[in-house]
Amino acid sequence: MSKIRLGLSSCLLGAKVRFDGGHRWDRFITDTLGQYVEFLPVCPEVECGLGVPREPMRLEGQPAAPRLLTVRTRQDLTQRLLTWARRRVAALAHEDLDGFIFKAKSPSSGIARVKVYNDRGVPTNTGVGLFARVFMDHFPLLPVADEGRLHDPEIRENFIERIFFHRRWREFLGQKPNLGDLVTFHTRHKLQILAHSPELYRQLGRLVARARELPLPEVLAAYPAMAMAALRFKATVKKNAKVLYHLLGYFKKQLSPDEKQELLEIIDSYRLSEVPLIVPITLVNHYVRQYREPCLKGQSYLNPHPLELMLRYHT
Ligand code: SF4
Repeated sequence: MSKIRLGLSSCLLGAKVRFDGGHRWDRFITDTLGQYVEFLPVCPEVECGLGVPREPMRLEGQPAAPRLLTVRTRQDLTQRLLTWARRRVAALAHEDLDGFIFKAKSPSSGIARVKVYNDRGVPTNTGVGLFARVFMDHFPLLPVADEGRLHDPEIRENFIERIFFHRRWREFLGQKPNLGDLVTFHTRHKLQILAHSPELYRQLGRLVARARELPLPEVLAAYPAMAMAALRFKATVKKNAKVLYHLLGYFKKQLSPDEKQELLEIIDSYRLSEVPLIVPITLVNHYVRQYREPCLKGQSYLNPHPLELMLRYHT
C-alpha cells in the first residue's frame, strides 16, 4: 500500500516559519504518524510572500468573513492571502491528499475557534483561518484536524481512521473499479461504517443495492461523500458494542458455549467501559484467524489502522 498523503502546517514539521522565527514541532505527528504518512508542508504566510520574522497578525471584523490585519501597522493582508490560497488549493488538487493537519488557533491556518476581534478590540473564539477556510471549502470530503485536538484520543482515532479510509478509497479508484469491485469494497467496510452511523450505513447499503440502475460515475461520486460523512460521526461505545454483538453471530457454530460466554463477557466489559475496544477486537481477530471466517476476513472494522498507533487502547 502507498503511504497516506497529508498536508501539514509547516511549523508543525519543525520549520522555523512562525512570525517570531520559531516553530511548533509536534513529535506525535512527525515521529509516530510520520511512519505511515508522507507530508506536504504548507505555510500560508511565508508562501504568500511575507517574511520571517514578520509582524504578528490577527482576524478582525465579522467572524463569517473576517479580515487579516497586522497588529501594529494595520496592514490589510486579506486579499493577498486569499488570492494565494485559491491558487494553492487548485495546485493541491493534483497532490492526491488524504487529509490535512493544521496549526490550531492561527489566523491563517486554524480550522475552528480562531480569535476574531470586533471593532472594540474584543475577541471571540469564533473564526476560521483564511487559508483553512479556502481549503475546507475546496475539499469538503477531506479529513482535517488541528494538532491541538489530535491530543484527544477519540478525535485522534477518528481522524486517523478517516485518513486511512480515504487512502483505501483513493487506491480503489485508481484501479478503475467496476460495480462488482464497489460491492466488494463496501462489504469490506460496512461494519466500520455501521460503528459510526447506522443511518448512513443503511443509506449506503441502499445506494450499492440500486447501483446497477445508476451511471457508475454517479455512484462512485456519491459513495465516498456518504461514507466520509458517516465516518465523521463518533464511533461510541454503544455503537461499537452493537457491532461486536453482531460479530458474535458469525461464530455461532464454531465457538464452544464456554468460548461464546467468554467473548460475550468481554464485550460486556467493553460496554461498561471496563476494558478498551482493543480487547474484544483482539479476541474476535483471533477467532477470525482460527476459523478462517470468510465474511470477516478483511473487514476494515477489525483492522482500520496499524496496531502500533495504539488508537483503540482508551476507555
Ligand atoms: S500557523 Fe500556518 S501560517 Fe503560521 S507559521 Fe504555521 S504554517 Fe505558517
